[in-house]
Amino acid sequence: MKAWIVAVGSEMLTPFRVDTNSLSITERLNAIGCDVRLKAVVGDDVGELATLFQRGVGTVDLIVCTGGLGPTEDDITRDGLARALNLECETDEQVLESIRQRFEKRGMVMRDINRRQALVPRGAEVLENARGTAPGLWLERDGTSILLLPGPPLEMQPILDRVVDERLKPRAGSRGLFRRVLKLTGRPESEVDAIAQPVYGQWLSAPIPIATTILAKMGQIELHLTADAPNEADARVALAAAVRQLLDVLEPSVYSTDGRGLEEVVGDLLRERGLSIAVAESCTGGLLASRLTDVAGSSDYFDRGVVCYSNDAKIEWLGVSPDLLAAHGAVSEPVAQAMADGVRQRARSGVGVGITGIAGPGGGTPEKPVGMVCIAVVTPVQQQVRTFQFIGSRDMVKFQSAQAAMNMLRRLLADGPPVYRD
Ligand code: ATP
Ligand code: MG
Repeated sequence: MKAWIVAVGSEMLTPFRVDTNSLSITERLNAIGCDVRLKAVVGDDVGELATLFQRGVGTVDLIVCTGGLGPTEDDITRDGLARALNLECETDEQVLESIRQRFEKRGMVMRDINRRQALVPRGAEVLENARGTAPGLWLERDGTSILLLPGPPLEMQPILDRVVDERLKPRAGSRGLFRRVLKLTGRPESEVDAIAQPVYGQWLSAPIPIATTILAKMGQIELHLTADAPNEADARVALAAAVRQLLDVLEPSVYSTDGRGLEEVVGDLLRERGLSIAVAESCTGGLLASRLTDVAGSSDYFDRGVVCYSNDAKIEWLGVSPDLLAAHGAVSEPVAQAMADGVRQRARSGVGVGITGIAGPGGGTPEKPVGMVCIAVVTPVQQQVRTFQFIGSRDMVKFQSAQAAMNMLRRLLADGPPVYRD
């Protein structure tokens, strides 16, 4: 099955909004083996949209369109379809009634402009939208199925799920594209690719071909493995073998094979070992604490975090000695170590972390350039302090520092081979 995806909305032709709906639509379509051949963003222009529909109808199996189903003048998707296929739009009384009731339930009166949302191009089927006023629409023409979905992601998703399950999956059979993601940190992308390429390069010609893409974000690399398989069970076996091959060459940089983020992996390790954690942060300004507490249930192990930016704060709140600060400077391994020890003792926690560095863009010196960050991690049985030299903007230095601290913690806590989940 081949598909096009069209996002409608002039705001997505500005620098301020991006089309993200097409990503979740692509994900759902790929999962049933449907290939997305073209994606487009069209402004609120009936003519432009109608032209696109005319080009697609009769040539692709499926056109999925999102947005522009609202009640206002700039919501033109219905009109675009009607014009392309020369269809009259008629008011669907049932849809009109359900919109009216939706307003009534909230103690409001339906305005006249909402009548537009009950207009249905002749021959189109209405797809109920439980979360909003604009229903989705489904129409078949010249071998092409056309699916119109509302723009708000929360409204779009349930309609899309239903259509995929009820209408598209039966057509596609069990064949599909199935995905596994490996997440790594602590190694540059070029190095990861040099090591992994000889391994994944062979998979494309395997009986169940697996395509690999590398996505590098700052401080994190993802390897996406996509198997084109006759069914999910076969895909799972092939992907598990592929993941094992990559682990053989890339361990211990791989922190996750099951979708978990680094903060979740670290949190699970702390919980399994019954350890609490306290963190003292300078240049990350609380980012480490924030990321650790992004995980639901982190109160099981996260005790406290302090941001000690000034020397005074480090002295008063963490007990860092003024002599140590004078001798080595605030950005130094001894001070990172003293911060980790200080917060751990005061919190009486199992683990303590100290981070101190220069996030930039100003404040660097030849000896201590922007991006230099010292991180200390102390556990009941081990301790480690390291100096990193990160590159990039202030944001990027902060993010990579938090990432590196969590990775040090992960490596210290994981004694013995790490346990990966399928
Ligand atoms: P509404 O009844 O809310 O007007 P609609 O179907 O007309 O629904 P739009 O007006 O196009 O949808 O978009 C409404 C909101 O949905 C947008 O402000 C935006 O937040 C979100 N949205 C629309 N299209 C997309 C897209 N392609 N990706 C991500 N978000 C989108
Ligand atoms: Mg709208």
